[in-house]
Amino acid sequence: MKELDKRICSVCGKEYQLTEKQKKEIMEEAKYKTENFILTCPLCHSLDFVNPLEMLGLSTKKKSEIVDNRLFCCPVEGCIGFVEEDEDIKGLYGCSECGTEWKSINAIYRDIEKIISKYPYREEVYKKSGNAFKSVPFDKIPKGYYSKVQKEDV
Ligand SMILES: [Zn+2]
Ligand SMILES: [Zn+2]
Repeated sequence: MKELDKRICSVCGKEYQLTEKQKKEIMEEAKYKTENFILTCPLCHSLDFVNPLEMLGLSTKKKSEIVDNRLFCCPVEGCIGFVEEDEDIKGLYGCSECGTEWKSINAIYRDIEKIISKYPYREEVYKKSGNAFKSVPFDKIPKGYYSKVQKEDV
């Protein structure tokens, strides 16, 4: 097992020292085989998405084998999750963070339209093309996007 010590923030790219509390949380999450966990970077105060198993060198999957099913940032107010297509049912989409389900891609587009008209800054993560939307690459999501979403009053 790797020793937990420092972490390079996925948002600002700077190295920060993990606190004892964060180390404990990561160990705890790894016990439950959690692959997604959120730390807060003390340098840029952004949410830093980490994989506890990988941080501890316990991940059994190689990077290339991890399928990224994420399609969009979740268009639900106050939600920092992602819309993913159901692994078993094609054409069914959901966000595991808030539990919303969409039965078609058009239903997602409609919710994206709605959230952008309510919160215009949300446009930074969705690119419109015709009647459809595409996500910006997930590593290009602007700094501060998630904290703005968290401040939306639900
Ligand atoms: Zn940072
Ligand atoms: Zn959601």
